[in-house]
Amino acid sequence: MPELPEVEVTCRRIRPLLIGRRIASLKTTGDSYFFLTPTRSLQRRLRGRVVKELNRYGKYLVGDIEDGSRLLLHLGMTGQLFSGDATSVRLLSSTARSSLAPEEQVGFRPDRHTHLRFHFEDSGPDVFFRDVRKFGKVRLLDAGQSDPRLDRLGPDALQVDGPMLFEASRRRRIAVKALLLDQSIIAGVGNIYADESLFRAGVRPGRGASRLTRRECDALAEALRRVLHRSIETGGSSISDYVAPDGSDGSYQDERQVYARRGEACYACGGPIRKRVIAQRGTHYCPRCQR
Ligand SMILES: [Zn+2]
Repeated sequence: MPELPEVEVTCRRIRPLLIGRRIASLKTTGDSYFFLTPTRSLQRRLRGRVVKELNRYGKYLVGDIEDGSRLLLHLGMTGQLFSGDATSVRLLSSTARSSLAPEEQVGFRPDRHTHLRFHFEDSGPDVFFRDVRKFGKVRLLDAGQSDPRLDRLGPDALQVDGPMLFEASRRRRIAVKALLLDQSIIAGVGNIYADESLFRAGVRPGRGASRLTRRECDALAEALRRVLHRSIETGGSSISDYVAPDGSDGSYQDERQVYARRGEACYACGGPIRKRVIAQRGTHYCPRCQR
């Protein structure tokens, strides 16, 4: 699932493909829970408009449209936002994938999972939003209108420091893992980066958040920022569906220490990585290195 680094990489790389270009037309799939704004209205209100700016808020992307409205996009579990020039097997259905020769690359052809297709007045590439599992969201906000999804976001995970984390963790009777995943406390962290930063900070994910010392909060905030920055640098994690807008894979999955490594040897101590459910999520940790 795209977390802060994947959404940040998407934001940075899709910007030059969206900003300043006039939308000639917008194609959508039919109305569904995916569209918080009816598709007819989206098509009508975005036609002929220019996207002025694109920013990330937690795991959300928000495009500022020239008339003051804002386009809210959430990639959900399997969302992909990319250029019509992109080629990647991750943009194909599993049946189409299996019929390909191993090294074959084919251009993208919109399929039933392609929920948005921006076509521009210039002759440049279209921009697509595809989402196989359809947990993503699209909403067009009127000028000045807010959205509860954005309003309840806590400070961005890249801005979090030790004292903030210490303050946020007091009086909370939840596991530190749950604290990291709560978007109203820290925005942008999901399962992968929560597990990875807890490992690097040497903190067990099941520890009560309010029991963390100042020093542990410092270490955890530092680990969180480092893990996120490093993932952005390497293009994010491409474990299942995630591709960058140009069709390239991220490579942070190759640097994982614990996530999805159950039973494998810890790189630090050689002991087996364990997995248990904490905050309703499969959580990976090293019982020897994390206390
Ligand atoms: Zn270990």
